[in-house]
Amino acid sequence: MHALVIGAGVSGLSAALRLREAGHAVEIWTRDPPAETVSAVAAAIWYPYRADPPDRVLRWGAVSLRTFVRLADDPATGVVMRDGLEVFREPVPDPWWKAAVPGFRRAEASELPPGMADGFALRLPVVDMSVYLGWLRRRVEAEGVAITQRAIAGLGETRGAADVVVNCTGLAARRVADDPEVYGVRGQIQVVRAPGVTRFLIDDAGPTYVIPRVSDVVLGGTADERVDDATLDPTTAAALRRRCEALVPALEGAEVVADRVGIRPCRSAVRLEAETIDGVRVVHNYGHGGSGVTLSWGCAEEVVALV
Ligand SMILES: Cc1cc2nc3c(=O)[nH]c(=O)nc-3n(C[C@H](O)[C@H](O)[C@H](O)COP(=O)(O)OP(=O)(O)OC[C@H]3O[C@@H](n4cnc5c(N)ncnc54)[C@H](O)[C@@H]3O)c2cc1C
Repeated sequence: MHALVIGAGVSGLSAALRLREAGHAVEIWTRDPPAETVSAVAAAIWYPYRADPPDRVLRWGAVSLRTFVRLADDPATGVVMRDGLEVFREPVPDPWWKAAVPGFRRAEASELPPGMADGFALRLPVVDMSVYLGWLRRRVEAEGVAITQRAIAGLGETRGAADVVVNCTGLAARRVADDPEVYGVRGQIQVVRAPGVTRFLIDDAGPTYVIPRVSDVVLGGTADERVDDATLDPTTAAALRRRCEALVPALEGAEVVADRVGIRPCRSAVRLEAETIDGVRVVHNYGHGGSGVTLSWGCAEEVVALV
C-alpha cells in the first residue's frame, strides 16, 4: 500500500520506518522538521508517564523497551542503558508497569537519598533525542521515504494522496483530527554538563528528575496542566535546578547547556485506531502524553497491523 504519514516526531518517524520494513511505499508530510518537534525536547527516559490505558501502554512500552535495549548497542543512535532509582517519601506498592521492566527490584534502604522512604531500582534506556531523531530520520530516508515539509489544515486535505494516512500530529491532532479531547501539559527542562552524574534519579513529587544522557544531563521537570504556552520561564528554570541539586548535590555548579520547553500531547487515552474521514482511510497514532518515546516502537508495530 501507499502510506502517507503526517508528522515527523518520534511517533511519525517510528511508524514510517516499520511501515517501510513491512513492504509499504511510505512518505511523510510534516509541518516542522524532526529537530523542531515536541519529541526533540523529551528528556527522554523509558518511563510510562501521563499515558493511558494501562493495559495497552504496558504492551507498547514493553515492545519499545526491548527495541531500545538493542539500539543501545549502537552508539550512533544516542541510546544508552542507565541504572538509577525512582524514590518516594512514603511506602508505595509495586508499579503497574513492573512487568515491562526486566530486573525490576525494590531499592534497599541504604540506597535511598535522605528523606526518602521507598524506591525502585531500575535499569532503563535513556535516549538523547538530539542524536536519536537525526539517526531515525537518516534510517527512514535510507529506506527511500521522502520527508516533505507541508502543513495540512485537516485530514480531508489528504484525499487521493495515498491508500492510507497515518495521523501522528501529536498536540496538533486537536485541529487536524478535530479532536477536543487532546490537551497540552507544559514541561520545562534544563540540560547541564555534569560528567560525574551517571545514575538517574526520579522523585515522583515535583516531578523532579535527573537523567544522564550520553554526554550531558537533563534536569526536570514541570507538568503544567492545560498550558500551551511554550515560552521559557527563567523562574521555573531556577526552581527546578534547586530541586535537582537538593536531590543530587553533585549537580552544584554544573554548566547550563540549554533550557527547553515542550507541550506534552495529552489525552484521556492514546488514540491508536482506524477510521474513515471524508472518504480517507486514516490510522490515528497520537495523544502519547509524557510517554511518546516510551511507547514509540510498540505503537509503530500496531500501526502496521492496523494498516
Ligand atoms: C519536557 C518534556 C519531557 C519529556 N520527557 C519524556 C520522557 O522522558 N520519555 C518519554 O517517553 N516522553 C517524554 N516526553 C513526551 C514526548 O516528548 C511526547 O510524548 C512525544 O514527543 C510525542 O511525539 P509525537 O511524535 O506524537 O508528537 P510531536 O513530537 O509533537 O510531533 C508531531 C508532528 O506532527 C507535525 N504536525 C503538527 N501539525 C501538523 C500539520 N497541521 N500538518 C502536518 N504536520 C503537522 C509536527 O510538525 C511534528 O512533526 C517529554 C515531553 C516533554 C515536553
